[in-house]
Amino acid sequence: MIIYPFTIGEFDVNNYLIHGDNSRRAILIDAGYDPSPICQKIEELNLELVYLINTHGHGDHIAGNQKILDFTGAKLLMHEADAAYLSNPNLNLSAFIGISLKSSKPDRLLKEGDRIELDGLFLEVLHTPGHTPGHITLVGDQCAFVGDVIFRESVGRTDFPGSSSQQLIESIRKKIYQLPDDMILYPGHGPRTTVAHEKLSNPFVSY
Ligand SMILES: [Zn+2]
Ligand SMILES: [Zn+2]
Repeated sequence: MIIYPFTIGEFDVNNYLIHGDNSRRAILIDAGYDPSPICQKIEELNLELVYLINTHGHGDHIAGNQKILDFTGAKLLMHEADAAYLSNPNLNLSAFIGISLKSSKPDRLLKEGDRIELDGLFLEVLHTPGHTPGHITLVGDQCAFVGDVIFRESVGRTDFPGSSSQQLIESIRKKIYQLPDDMILYPGHGPRTTVAHEKLSNPFVSY
């Protein structure tokens, strides 16, 4: 798997453009405001974006959805429990910064255990609620895209509408910490980490 990370928008959200070693067909994980550098990369590498997957429905992760969908014709995928966030500025938090953000409806709703396949590239869906009710983690070969569930030595906030700190801790203990120790975790904000590093060093959720 080839991974191109982008850090964009005023909330420094990490978006990941990925494709298989021998394929031009690509997947984008989250789309911040403004995703122009991602569009440029897609053009430069002559990639065909097939899927845009939102890890969850918060504004910083979905603000660029429409631009990406219009530019590429990709299909939008996200968990069913966060789908309402796309069209609700109070849930997606955009109302709190004075804008009213709405995105198109998802083309496919995801749930625990679903698999997304593209030319030999596989992502398995783990439902990891807590930061939002429909937050997902996407597990690939040797790496996982964890959105705002866990960060390097930190965890996602749980003071938003629909958040639950108890669920978040359970998601980390029962899902993230069950992944292989050497698995690389690519978060929605900040630097990457590994399962082993967080088990040893995360001050919020001990192993
Ligand atoms: Zn979030
Ligand atoms: Zn975020």
